[in-house]
Amino acid sequence: MTQDELFKVLVAHCKEYGFIFPSSEIYDGLAAVYDYGQMGVELKNNIKKYWWGAMTRLHENIVGIDSCIFMHPKIWEASGHVGAFNDPLIDNKDSKKRYRADVLIEDYIAKLEEKNAKEVEKGRKKFGDAFDEEKFLQTNPNCVRNSEKIAQVRKRMADALNANDLKELRQIIIDCEIACPISGTKNWTEVRQFNLMFSTQLGSVGEEANTIYLRPETAQGIFVNYLNVQKTGRMKIPFGIAQIGKAFRNEIVARQFIFRMREFEQMEMQFFIKPGTELDWFAQWKKNRMAWHVNLGMGAENYRFHDHDKLAHYANAATDIEFNFPFGFKELEGIHSRTDFDLGNHQKFSGKKIQYFDPESNESYTPYVVETSIGVDRMVLAVLSHSFKEETLENGETRVVLSIPAPLAPVKAAVLPLVKKDGLPELAQKIMDMLKFDFNCQYDEKDSIGKRYRRQDAIGTPFCITVDHDSLEDGCVTVRYRDTMTQDRIKIEDLPAMIHREVDLGVLLRKL
Ligand code: ATP
Repeated sequence: MTQDELFKVLVAHCKEYGFIFPSSEIYDGLAAVYDYGQMGVELKNNIKKYWWGAMTRLHENIVGIDSCIFMHPKIWEASGHVGAFNDPLIDNKDSKKRYRADVLIEDYIAKLEEKNAKEVEKGRKKFGDAFDEEKFLQTNPNCVRNSEKIAQVRKRMADALNANDLKELRQIIIDCEIACPISGTKNWTEVRQFNLMFSTQLGSVGEEANTIYLRPETAQGIFVNYLNVQKTGRMKIPFGIAQIGKAFRNEIVARQFIFRMREFEQMEMQFFIKPGTELDWFAQWKKNRMAWHVNLGMGAENYRFHDHDKLAHYANAATDIEFNFPFGFKELEGIHSRTDFDLGNHQKFSGKKIQYFDPESNESYTPYVVETSIGVDRMVLAVLSHSFKEETLENGETRVVLSIPAPLAPVKAAVLPLVKKDGLPELAQKIMDMLKFDFNCQYDEKDSIGKRYRRQDAIGTPFCITVDHDSLEDGCVTVRYRDTMTQDRIKIEDLPAMIHREVDLGVLLRKL
């Protein structure tokens, strides 16, 4: 199966098993908006708990807040979103499809990178153990040509974006002979800027209504509460404020399922520091955040940093943590050194002094900020796409399994009476009553045990606990493990400790 086909199967699986539904489906859906179902919400909540715990509980100097989606409209002027939160868009005149100009160019670069990767694979096969990838990339004429082209196009694009030069962006698309993936033609319009914020009206009809915006990021809610938290929490720099919440962007090129949505959720942490220390903290947070990802056990090779050539108007250093999604390495999280841009501007626009008095050096300053910003939904997609497997078993049968890291799994254990009689359901129910206070468990007595195992595999349940006739005598149950499908006989009273060891978030946090 190609990655493309696999992705389609995954999307269908997410719907069939109650993870993610298209929004407003009975009205034919709403583009780029999705709802989480009974399984999806559990997975999403577990991801949020893992992040929240890692940020606020493991760092005594990081606290959380929950600010509102609606904020004073001036905030978005101060943050630069009214003036500069734009995407450069281009239309293909034949297919009438609209694209982000920078994304078209990035896809072109990704294709050249793929070509190099293929050449490297060929080289590796040809030269065997003696193969030196670095040397090969520097000497193979095709690779050298591709690498030069990549560097040149990257630089042109970064320069054009930094200078807001829309004509040059279009020219890059023309020069690279980029064609529309739908029509196949190179018949492009001019590039135009498009603001991504949703606006609405505050105040009742008849009153003079004020235009306000649905927040396009959660960060500004933190900046405008900086003074409140610093004072009431008696926080000393360096310290951080964390927040999880919804954000809204009128994405024009919304695609790839929950990767790019119009309503999504972010987990952001703003770390306030002394000016001049930002690059050290930036390096520190890069390390810290990568460790958080790798700790989930989904393979260190599936993550990489992508340092930005084009810096946002507020940043003096920025990187993305990219994940190996089915459609290639793409941004999962951003880490930005935002200087004093935000606090400085809020000071200017609000007229309120936003400073920190450092008792040690006896000086006041506007703190600098390093932020980490990750999309909850992209994290859900990373976990699901990595976990989804169609396996052929030794007996020739196939099974679909979600090998979700156990602490994130929606259901931790399924309790299954072998038959619906002889007192087995009653004992199974007792086990449910013992476990349900600590773990999300499912009781299932319908269909054959094999079918029930498959249902649990498909939603990623790490343990299936089967109650049989012997259980009534020996007080033991059969535990079947999701990933290996091996089975153990375990005493009923030992179940909580055994499940706890594998699924507890605390155990995962302790490994950080
Ligand atoms: P992209 O370049 O993919 O548009 P971005 O650089 O604009 O992303 P940020 O503004 O840095 O993203 O937002 C931080 C994080 O929020 C991203 O790393 C991503 O995980 C998430 N995110 C941003 N936009 C969306 C979206 N439309 N849908 C889902 N998640 C998003």
